[in-house]
Amino acid sequence: MANIIDGKAVSAQVKENIRIEAENLKKQGIEIGLAVVIVGNDPASQVYVRNKEKACEAVGFNSYKYALDENTTEQELLALIDKLNRDEKVNGILVQLPLPKHLDDKVIINNILPEKDVDAFHPVNVGKIMIGDYSFLPCTPAGVMELIKSTGTDITGKKCVVIGRSNIVGKPMAMLLLHKNGTVTICHSKTNDLPKVCSQADILVAAVGKPKIITADYIKEGAVVIDVGMDRDENGKLCGDVDFENCKDKAGYITPVPGGVGPMTIAMLMQNTLTAAKQQNGLLEGQSEKSADGKDRNMWNKLFLHT
Ligand code: NAP
Repeated sequence: MANIIDGKAVSAQVKENIRIEAENLKKQGIEIGLAVVIVGNDPASQVYVRNKEKACEAVGFNSYKYALDENTTEQELLALIDKLNRDEKVNGILVQLPLPKHLDDKVIINNILPEKDVDAFHPVNVGKIMIGDYSFLPCTPAGVMELIKSTGTDITGKKCVVIGRSNIVGKPMAMLLLHKNGTVTICHSKTNDLPKVCSQADILVAAVGKPKIITADYIKEGAVVIDVGMDRDENGKLCGDVDFENCKDKAGYITPVPGGVGPMTIAMLMQNTLTAAKQQNGLLEGQSEKSADGKDRNMWNKLFLHT
């Protein structure tokens, strides 16, 4: 039986560390604020936003919720973003996706100041992740990295397989594993012989969105298996991309759904908001990864990026 990675416990620890830091900053007169913008009445989005507000409360951040009407125009939403970009009380801005169809996600995201883009979706932040010199990491992949760390697994030299190539999970996930010296393969719907590729992985991250498609024949004995999927099974019950019951005896470590990656995503959003507040108050430089060639990527930032 694999060790079950307890995402709730790891996220509770991350949030507790953030709470302590936020408390200390408050003593120095620095209050941390996250603005969450939601447009329309999508029930799932309402739940996500409520959870983000609760997390802010738990770690001692101020949260500012802007619930806009379904028919809000692009101009109105951009005016709000502009106001939040200028508001010193707001360190991070999160626009809950998906937006109603008449609004273009890209236009909205591109207008958030990169320094306040705590989802790390702005092209500047995406580019920084690529060169290993980042301020913010996309929350879900960052949460996965924390979960892998919690197992004590050293990623260096390991065969890592990421299933999924979306901009918010698969691609940045692969990049983070690469920065930690993993040998990374990215799979997708056109990959030939997916079970064979996956069964060679020491670390397997599934971000597909298909309930229980990963079965024991995809798993290498003793592998670390991280399930990002948030799917519904045939009975409408929440499950992951990994068939947990089928795989748990073969994996070395495995995340459950729920209670694995899910709780980490919000914890990492809080982490990004803390980072934003520290940077905006001159308390932090951008983080950087020293890559295998020993180059400090932060230098690249100083030379090429003026953000
Ligand atoms: P997405 O944009 O739909 O991407 C899915 C990826 O899976 C695509 O790259 C697709 O390949 C690939 N894929 C689909 N069917 C496949 C198959 N049969 N074999 C191999 N690859 C296949 O989804 P996403 O936004 O990355 O999310 C993925 C999952 O993670 C979803 O279940 C989502 O709900 C969940 N999620 C969870 C969290 C969390 O906090 N826990 C956060 C974000 C997402 P192509 O590119 O070839 O189409």
